[in-house]
Amino acid sequence: MAVKLFNTLTRSVLDFAPLDPAGKNVGLYCCGPTVHDFAHIGNFRTFVFADLVRRFLEFSGYAVTHVMNVTDVEDKIIKRVRENQTTLRDFTGKYEAEFFKDLAELRCLRPTHTPRATEYIAEMITLIEQLTARGIAYQAADGSVYFSIEKYRGCGCRYGQLVNLNFDGMRAGERVASDDYEKESLADFALWKARVPDDGDVFWPSPWGEGRPGWHIECSAMSMKLLGTSFDLHLGGEDLMFPHHEDEIAQSEGATGKPFVKHWMHGAHLLVEGKKMSKSLGNYFTLRDLLAKGFSGREIRCLLLTAHYREQFNFTLDGLAGARTALARLDECLAKLREISGSTSAAPAEKLVADFRAALADDLNVSKAWAVIFDWVRDTNRRLVANELTPALAAAELAAWERVDSVFGLGGKAEAEAPPDILALLEARTAAKKAKDFKRADAVRDELKAKGWAVEDTAKGPKLKRA
Ligand code: AMP
Ligand code: ZN
Repeated sequence: MAVKLFNTLTRSVLDFAPLDPAGKNVGLYCCGPTVHDFAHIGNFRTFVFADLVRRFLEFSGYAVTHVMNVTDVEDKIIKRVRENQTTLRDFTGKYEAEFFKDLAELRCLRPTHTPRATEYIAEMITLIEQLTARGIAYQAADGSVYFSIEKYRGCGCRYGQLVNLNFDGMRAGERVASDDYEKESLADFALWKARVPDDGDVFWPSPWGEGRPGWHIECSAMSMKLLGTSFDLHLGGEDLMFPHHEDEIAQSEGATGKPFVKHWMHGAHLLVEGKKMSKSLGNYFTLRDLLAKGFSGREIRCLLLTAHYREQFNFTLDGLAGARTALARLDECLAKLREISGSTSAAPAEKLVADFRAALADDLNVSKAWAVIFDWVRDTNRRLVANELTPALAAAELAAWERVDSVFGLGGKAEAEAPPDILALLEARTAAKKAKDFKRADAVRDELKAKGWAVEDTAKGPKLKRA
């Protein structure tokens, strides 16, 4: 069954088909965090969405290479480094480490690659050189290098693929130095920013003098280096459509002359009382704020998975309490099934898996998927009361749940006792084994052992035990 996904480029739901002629390998890039502070759960809505896309594609038989960059140099970071009188690496290192802890707490699979922008400066310079060689980029009097929208459009390329733009008000050569700007200030944007005193120690040498990259070129360089000049899927929050993603397309297609990304997906915002959850509005919760209130990463993940990714979703603490109740119902049913199945194993029962697959194959219709799950809970409870479930039947239903859970990643209660970094390692080992990368699987097993956990491969899948 084809997986249907909405594509921002065509503004329509399409059958997903990878560029790989064998139809197997998929390259997925999702813009990662800017590590200037703790991420809030609005940011994590986008990362849980990317995790869902990746897991569902893997469930559907694809081999996904998932890249999530770490933006560790840009305007806001430099400002904070200056204010805190620290170094770039010390400052960003702390927030980066916390970010990955939070990501594991939310049971997101660790992306295959998590490149830091500062480690890809050479690739960014090469891209800018390609753009200058093609006459699409130019160095201005301020020493910075800008992307010329006029020259790009003159090559027959299209600027404004994701959003409609009005070029009438645009004056050729007008420039915008800041990474963030509105559609109304459509202008040539900075690829390389010449060093200014406020940058402190944050600069690199380049053919255009000392300076640092603009934010947009970072993602073009890292994504194409790790996934190739053309790749399948590019994701991010809806606020990134313009200018960030539009500029990524222009830089990449301008430099290579090839189509950049086949399929763009954008996640809608998490709101608080009708407004985007954001640092600047001060209406945000970090993950640690919610953990301090007694909620778990599992409950927060569950809540974030209840809304369709293209719909804005209002965050409330009552919503989280609702997720807790829903999980308790599910856990109770799973516990009874485990009690009956004992050590019996069986192939997954078909109905739950097939209905769940059909729901998510319809542009990730999570509401339908949850309805399937809770119909299954109701029906299973009825069969339990009626004593209809033999150990083999209970094991088959449990195995079906394990398949569903490879996508939703909620885990069972017993598993919830293992800390998130251990669960992330277990998932990494399972993924490595699935990809037949046994060397990596063994290395992860050793890492788990060193942390005091053993993995036992049972007929029902890998189980964690205290070593
Ligand atoms: P940043 O760390 O600011 O670069 O943002 C990381 C990701 O979070 C980006 O993909 C943003 O689009 C996304 N994001 C920011 N605010 C929200 C929100 N309120 N809801 C959903 N995603 C968001
Ligand atoms: Zn990006």
